[in-house]
Amino acid sequence: MSGEIYDVVIVGGGPAGLTAAIYTGRRSLKTLVITQDIGGQLALTDSVENYPGFLSIGGLELSEKFKEQAEKSGAQIKFAQVTGLKKQNNEFIIQADAEEIKARTVILAFGLSPRTLDVPGEKELTGRGVTYCATCDGPLYRGKTVAVIGGGNSALDAGEYLSKLAQKVYMLHRRDEFRGEAVLIDHVKSAPNIEIIYNAQVTAVQGQKKVEGLSYKTTDGQEKEIKLDGIFVEIGHVAKSDWLKNIINLTDRREIKINQDCETNLPGVFSAGDISEITYKQAVISAGEGCKAALQAYRYLQGNKPLMPDWTPKKL
Ligand code: NDP
Repeated sequence: MSGEIYDVVIVGGGPAGLTAAIYTGRRSLKTLVITQDIGGQLALTDSVENYPGFLSIGGLELSEKFKEQAEKSGAQIKFAQVTGLKKQNNEFIIQADAEEIKARTVILAFGLSPRTLDVPGEKELTGRGVTYCATCDGPLYRGKTVAVIGGGNSALDAGEYLSKLAQKVYMLHRRDEFRGEAVLIDHVKSAPNIEIIYNAQVTAVQGQKKVEGLSYKTTDGQEKEIKLDGIFVEIGHVAKSDWLKNIINLTDRREIKINQDCETNLPGVFSAGDISEITYKQAVISAGEGCKAALQAYRYLQGNKPLMPDWTPKKL
């Protein structure tokens, strides 16, 4: 471990983490973002139409803009996996791959990870026809037959995008109606090459070296099969925060508990975005939460003095 110490280490490079970096960088705090990728879930979204200021922009393109702005503000970015956090005297030690990094404050903003179906064949054929990212892998399925699993906005978004590339898209949902936005549901229902199969629970992924199909069970107990070239699993996300459980309070869904100012139970450690217990998991909200966490970290480093003479954050 070097003697170097950062004012702020931000874990995660999605909308929350990169917005936090823009704010801490602009306040001249020595800032390091440690992340495995840029954009997180946002980068996997084909077309973002609900981020103010952009009528429509690719998720990857928007993520790159966040990164550029964070770097222009003075933040450094390091690609690594964070697996540990501990407090030593008044500093925090962050385990990033094999390296230990020191920080005065930490902002946890590492988002959520894709949920898996947990059916036979899924794990074995991941990367060989089973995928969790339509934007990344969609172009590989031009002219092919694919299935999208799920009934939320991610599945609808993926279904619409894939219908422009694949010859045929099956959408399998375990309920009898989708739960996403009306406009996305309309797009999916009006695409001529999308076939919606409701009340279908996937039971297995089939294939030897690559995906050849899947089987599913209907609510009346019938087992059915479809022949496929690819399966896009879009069934929500889970919090991979077990590495924090001895030091940071988590909810029963393993999201990070925070107060309205993005403070965790451990003074000096803040959290923002989808990994925190906020209700609405949206890029614009994550960006706002990242800003809050950054200002609160700055305030902590100033000895918790009010940021502005006329503004003191309220405590509930
Ligand atoms: P959601 O949690 O909203 O939806 C997950 C879907 O997967 C549900 O339909 C759920 O079924 C289904 N599901 C969960 N587990 C299983 C399982 N084991 N087997 C089969 N189906 C399963 O997640 P999303 O990723 O769709 O969205 C997450 C957040 O991101 C949301 O807030 C969403 O609005 C947002 N988002 C917004 C976009 C946009 O605005 N364009 C694009 C993408 C995401 P059930 O309904 O039965 O629970």
